Amino acid sequence: MIERFEVPKEVPRKIAIYGKAGIGKSITSSHISAALSEMGEKVGLMQVGCDPKRDSIALLCGGIMPTVLEKLRMIESDSLGDEDTGPVELTDVKLDEVIFSGYNGIVCCEAGGPRPGMGCAGRGVLVAINILDEFKVYERNNVGFAIFDVLGDVVCGGFAQPMRAGQAHEIYIVTCGEILALYISNEIMRAVNRIRSEGVNVGLAGLIDNQRNVPFEREIVEEFARRTGVPVILHVPRSPKVQEAEIMCKTVIEAFPESDQALVYRSLARKVYENQYIYAPAPLNGLDEVVDVVRTYIH
Ligand code: ADP
Ligand code: MG
Repeated sequence: MIERFEVPKEVPRKIAIYGKAGIGKSITSSHISAALSEMGEKVGLMQVGCDPKRDSIALLCGGIMPTVLEKLRMIESDSLGDEDTGPVELTDVKLDEVIFSGYNGIVCCEAGGPRPGMGCAGRGVLVAINILDEFKVYERNNVGFAIFDVLGDVVCGGFAQPMRAGQAHEIYIVTCGEILALYISNEIMRAVNRIRSEGVNVGLAGLIDNQRNVPFEREIVEEFARRTGVPVILHVPRSPKVQEAEIMCKTVIEAFPESDQALVYRSLARKVYENQYIYAPAPLNGLDEVVDVVRTYIH
């Protein structure tokens, strides 16, 4: 029997969207943010990109934006050789230069990553997220609901940070019917349980099936969800409208508000917003069992 817990009532409510690289985390996060911003709730929204790819907030801000880690690097290089004035420090004002007001007033921030080939990307996320807390960015921007868009291929300390104490309690995994996406989803579930075993109140809210149009996709994702004991929040169809809007650097909600895909994202946003439960998942035993799920439908 899978354990179910109520989502803790906290302000801001923080949720994290995990999943394999390229599965559609940023698209899904941005569309949930954009749809929520139109739902008339008077809750301040924030989206935090936690992937060195740093394109999480691009569709909400109309382009790729500077990151927290870039800001830190600039401050560090300013302070080098500046013995007269002493080291330059990060301040609220400087941090605000990498906090943006995006579509419909959504507060947007990109953690960023180290230069390619240098340092650990996960550590960068850890540093950036701690800075948001330390400088009370949520309070200063009246944030009531924050979405963390996090890479899940490696759930190292840094990428696990949004799940740790005081951060997101509610985890959503973006997946599809492909074996690799399901395998990574399973690894993320293991990370959730590992962090739970450290006494942290975190759980899986469910899976978001961002469809790739593989055969029996809906059935495969449903079966994976059944075996791991977590709900499927929604099956999101693949739609060319997403790419058309992406080229305009917009979400479908903004570019094609009357489209079927916009309706899908509104429904997804409502389900996420109204969600009340998180689960301690029952991950499968490695790749073999993941393949076995797919074999139920494809021989
Ligand atoms: P991630 O953040 O997980 O690395 P993205 O959100 O950037 O992945 O998605 C990768 C690409 O997949 C996007 O650039 C977009 O073109 C495409 N994509 C994602 N979801 C959909 C969808 N539902 N329909 C069509 N294209 C999609
Ligand atoms: Mg992304």
